[in-house]
Amino acid sequence: MITANMDKLMQSGCEPGGTEKVCRSRGGESCAFDGAMIVLQPIADAAHLVHGPIVCCGNSWEGRGTLSTRGNLHRRGFTTDMGEMDIVYGSETKLLNAIHKTHEKVRPKAIFVYATCVSGLIGEDIAAVCRKAETELGIRVIPVNAPGFVGPKNLGNRIAGETLLQYVIGTGEPPETTDADINLIGEYNIAGDLWNIEPVLRDAGLRVLSRITGNATFEEITWAHRARLNVVVCSRALINVAKEMEIRYGIPYVEVSFFGKTEMAKALRSISEVLKGQNAAIGESTEQCIEREEKNLTERLASYGHLRGKKAVLYTGGVKSWSFITALMDLGIEIAAVGTKKSSHEDEAKMREILGPDAPLVEDVTPKNLLKLLRESDADMLVAGGRNKYLAAKEGYPFIDVNQERHSAYAGYSGLITMAEDLSSSIRFYERNRALSDRKGRIGNRAPAPTVVAPRADLCMDPIKHSPALGAAIALQGMDRAIPILHGAQGCTFLGKVLITNHFREPISLLSSKLFVEDVVMGSEERLITAASAAVEKNSPDIVGILTTGLSEVKGDDVAAAVGTLQKAHPDTLFVQVSTPDFTGGMERGYASAVEAIVQTMVPAGQRAAARTARCVTKAIVIFAGMHLTPGDVNELKSMVESFGLRPILVPDLGALDGSRAGVSALALGGTTREELAELPDSVFSLVIGASLEPAARILEDRFAIGYRVFHGLSDLEECDALLDLLSLLGNQPIPLRYVRERKSLIDGMRDAHGYFGGRTIGIALEPDHAVALSRLLSDMGAVTVRAVVPEQTSACLDIEAAEVVVGDLTDLPHRCDLFVASAHAEMIAAERHIPLLQAGFPLHKTLGAATKVSVGYRGTLSRIYEIGTLLMGAH
Ligand code: SF4
Repeated sequence: MITANMDKLMQSGCEPGGTEKVCRSRGGESCAFDGAMIVLQPIADAAHLVHGPIVCCGNSWEGRGTLSTRGNLHRRGFTTDMGEMDIVYGSETKLLNAIHKTHEKVRPKAIFVYATCVSGLIGEDIAAVCRKAETELGIRVIPVNAPGFVGPKNLGNRIAGETLLQYVIGTGEPPETTDADINLIGEYNIAGDLWNIEPVLRDAGLRVLSRITGNATFEEITWAHRARLNVVVCSRALINVAKEMEIRYGIPYVEVSFFGKTEMAKALRSISEVLKGQNAAIGESTEQCIEREEKNLTERLASYGHLRGKKAVLYTGGVKSWSFITALMDLGIEIAAVGTKKSSHEDEAKMREILGPDAPLVEDVTPKNLLKLLRESDADMLVAGGRNKYLAAKEGYPFIDVNQERHSAYAGYSGLITMAEDLSSSIRFYERNRALSDRKGRIGNRAPAPTVVAPRADLCMDPIKHSPALGAAIALQGMDRAIPILHGAQGCTFLGKVLITNHFREPISLLSSKLFVEDVVMGSEERLITAASAAVEKNSPDIVGILTTGLSEVKGDDVAAAVGTLQKAHPDTLFVQVSTPDFTGGMERGYASAVEAIVQTMVPAGQRAAARTARCVTKAIVIFAGMHLTPGDVNELKSMVESFGLRPILVPDLGALDGSRAGVSALALGGTTREELAELPDSVFSLVIGASLEPAARILEDRFAIGYRVFHGLSDLEECDALLDLLSLLGNQPIPLRYVRERKSLIDGMRDAHGYFGGRTIGIALEPDHAVALSRLLSDMGAVTVRAVVPEQTSACLDIEAAEVVVGDLTDLPHRCDLFVASAHAEMIAAERHIPLLQAGFPLHKTLGAATKVSVGYRGTLSRIYEIGTLLMGAH
């Protein structure tokens, strides 16, 4: 069924040998599911329910920069969070219940239900469930059949377009029509682009009847068939909608771009050219509008003359690739090179038209080559997508993000001014900063173990859960010269990489075996071997982590055999297999599984005899650092251990992500080295920060009799004291004066702040280990954690010092309390409930400096107390 529908879409421009190259990309971008969501999610008065394991919703939620004034459902995450039992027994009933729950909770105008790799693979009849729900609820419930493995993002865009044609367009009537009515197709109101364009269109005498889909209501799309003209904006991917509407409803279409002065004028003229036949005034009002806007623009751009003659390397996709060329040229910027990997042949032809036959078009846009281009062309700036931001930052190049994750609106005349300002400010920044380059005692008794409530919900709304593969991929970022490879469709990797990159604000290593329909139907072990072999041959990694996904696990791939083959073929690289099916557990579990697999694979029991003799000399201490520690925390811990004459070996060493990662590489650089791992049997003790990592320490204990101690987070006085005592014993050295002073300072700060904490009520939503660590601190300070929400039940839940622990999602946070502590995703819920939010956990893409924040040790604990105390003070 899926493949039959795909054939139809492939015929209209996606065929591999076709000239349009719409769907040629088989890497470096997201999956069809994500592509479909990009198109449909901007309909903000409709709910968007993802039927699959947590990975699809978790990795993509809030990853798109679309804005809306017509609702806020595009900012919420809805998923069925399929688990193992759902896959074994089917989950159509669960899906139906989830649709009902969604309706009950947010009363949407319609519900779009998205198939994903796992629900697609096991053959869930989503269309039938949607039909049933539609009858029962009396609202539109629309299936979107674009599981990730059918193809890349662009194909998903087209499937979404087909979905609108099939289920939405032509099903309603507008209150009135005019002869100046146009539809905007493929404009998603990224960062508010539309709000720059619509006033100009109005000025030119035009009326936007339907927005497809930025800032749209569901209803206005139902009457799109009454427009006089379809204006396809920067999106070859939705051209199928315009073509089909021409056939069905006789509506002509024009293709335009709204980026830059030249393209704005062209766009307005091509629209008026079609409409002035019916409304002569449009021709005149358009010309007057262009004249007015250009005059105004010239005046406002006068102060950006310093951009003239600067050189830019541009790398973006589709129509943007050529329209940004003209926009940059409008500012007097020269084009040093343009990356074309994501552009169609037609886009390339347009680039040549603008830049001439010697246009500097470059297909290879790996970070290494982009850097080479920047250097060789002596470019002044990089204009590209967010994923290249850290390449620019590392190398000190001014940068603006022009892709869908951007935060600035660059469309329209005023967008060009914003672009000039953003470029100027980035240039200014680099010009200014050329050098850039009685000790015991806890406060009270620990609270008794809380009640853990784990309701089995059919709908997971605004999840805190992330996929285990994401956790494993993060763990591998802390291993030097490692490459994690996700064995699944490419969407998980793309979305996961963006999410991790934005959290750490560092270049991230993550590859995919890129499974497509043919691999899903046939076997895919060969695909994994080919992808991993290519990665090894190209990058010579020390470690390759093979992480499974829901798709490869449900298919039943023999990953162990593939890893065996790889190990034989590439003996110099160590392959670590980590089982991380999306439907079992969450991120913390995936992280712990990766650490365990690393120790299991890389520290064989045979080294035991040698270990015992060497141990006393090296005084190496293993630190199993939990996922809740920031790179800043990890580095603080290292220096604490070192100050006792001990040598810390971090597993993994995420301190490498503190901003010091240099160079451009597909490898994770700067973490734990293979040589350090080989030394583990010689270590004297293991410190475990986070109970989830205890199994890894147990391996060392079993194999080499290395003792260990578990700490929850080292972010309260009692644990800090215990650590320093232990280090003093292991290093046979007194506690350095520095810590004696820091401890005094912590105690003083606790005294100062406790008045703001006493009796205050807190709701937290974090991974279990993190929740334990934070709740202990809050409890020490006299605050009450009224509810802790965790994504999954683990043994650590019993150590959380809260009145109640709920396995749930962000919506389970209490409705009344004095403070929330949760990830950036909780921003909207916190605002809705008028409760201040301390952003912690994952992801933290809306705060700066999250990676370098320190909340371990005396100093770190004090900073955290001040941070929370200040928020509570404000809420008094
Ligand atoms: S590729 Fe990954 S994100 Fe995309 S649908 Fe498949 S499982 Fe979901």
